[in-house]
Amino acid sequence: MPLVCGRMRRAEWEPLVERFRRRLTGWKGQCLSYGGRVTLIHAVLSSLPLFFLSVFRVPVGILDRIEVIRRRFLWQGAHEGPRKPHLVAWSTVCLRKEDGGLGILDLRDMNEALLSKWLWRWLCQPEHTWATIVRDRYGGHGLGGRRWPAIGPRTSALCKGLFGGCAGFVQGVRWGIGGGMNVSFWHEIWCGEQVLSVQFPAVYGIAFDQEGPIGGFRSGEGSNGGWSIGLRRSHLLPVERSQHSGLLELLAAWGGNFNASPDRPIWIPKQSTRFSVKSCYDWRRRGLPAATLGCGLASRIWKPKIPRKIKVFLWLLAHERLLTRVLRSKWRTDDNALCDLCGEAPETVAHLFCQCRVARAFWREVEQATSLIPFLGLSEMWEVGEELGKRMATGPRKTIAHLIIPAGAWAIWLTRNEVIFKGKRVYVENMWVLAAAMIRDSARVLVGVRGVTLRGGDISITM
Ligand SMILES: [Zn+2]
Repeated sequence: MPLVCGRMRRAEWEPLVERFRRRLTGWKGQCLSYGGRVTLIHAVLSSLPLFFLSVFRVPVGILDRIEVIRRRFLWQGAHEGPRKPHLVAWSTVCLRKEDGGLGILDLRDMNEALLSKWLWRWLCQPEHTWATIVRDRYGGHGLGGRRWPAIGPRTSALCKGLFGGCAGFVQGVRWGIGGGMNVSFWHEIWCGEQVLSVQFPAVYGIAFDQEGPIGGFRSGEGSNGGWSIGLRRSHLLPVERSQHSGLLELLAAWGGNFNASPDRPIWIPKQSTRFSVKSCYDWRRRGLPAATLGCGLASRIWKPKIPRKIKVFLWLLAHERLLTRVLRSKWRTDDNALCDLCGEAPETVAHLFCQCRVARAFWREVEQATSLIPFLGLSEMWEVGEELGKRMATGPRKTIAHLIIPAGAWAIWLTRNEVIFKGKRVYVENMWVLAAAMIRDSARVLVGVRGVTLRGGDISITM
């Protein structure tokens, strides 16, 4: 942890970059599957760097360098050596799993979410020592001493970093009103879904008081007596008039009332008086365009209990980004685009797993054992897998049923790799042996059964 008074210089960030480099380079990555690498990327982040990220706003240039290290590690395992293709865009990799990503944490949003914890504390514990020190030095009076400190050229880098994100943060806070003297009428969410200065910009532009607390806008007595919005001129343009009446309507419909209790912040993402970094992170990631995986594939990949390395394989398969011959030749790393199993058609993902003559013969074998419904395309393949699971009641048999399609696809991929890289010949019976072994091994680990037999659509297990 650097101890510096002024601005953090580039050199002072080096330990953070170094930490990632040291852990995510070398021989280890080569031996790990994609799934193992994802886990290691998370593990490195959750050790020391989170501590950095929760105190300092890390400069964009530094975050970019760390991203390069993480990205390389995921796709190529080691830092050195020939560049391997990055199969899926990093922005997609960083999406939440339910949105089609791998759930790798985005460092910028994580940094913001961790810093937001301080902003939440600023709101909830204005009397805390650190808050008092900041207030004494940089101001932030008014609104019960809770207003954000004014950031200027003389503000310390640490303080700038902490409060630099408050404009975005206030969008996540709704105020439960007590006396109404600690909450800004125009700039905080308390009535409606948005701050009033954004909902009614024309009225805000001509309002006398643009900074004051809600309590200052009350007219009359009683818990919800009435409102008075002082305007700088009485002659209103049509847009101002309509926004003005819209604002008064919204205020009249406001469900709250004034009372003696203190104003309370509510964290919108959780609808709670408690803040959590995870909810803040997810909230910041909301609304990102989800990757188009279609038909709820993300939950089909991540929900079933299957080994992690196979989940990442399925994820690549669902994105149609497995490194097939067609993809290779598109990237000019391969001249031959033909499928190695049949030698008859270009090796696309859809061909290899569904349409290939060899794959079809293999799936027919699987059909006999599991009464799987035949399919021709990728989306059908996923649906058939879902259907197999539905046929079983809960319990170990359901878990095993969910393993059939993943294990089959995995066996096709392994066989194809052995043909290409080890020059082996294809035997359809062997592929089924491979898939069945994977089902058995996974079932042993996941549901603790000793043996599994699949025959004529029935799954029998030995405990
Ligand atoms: Zn083929």
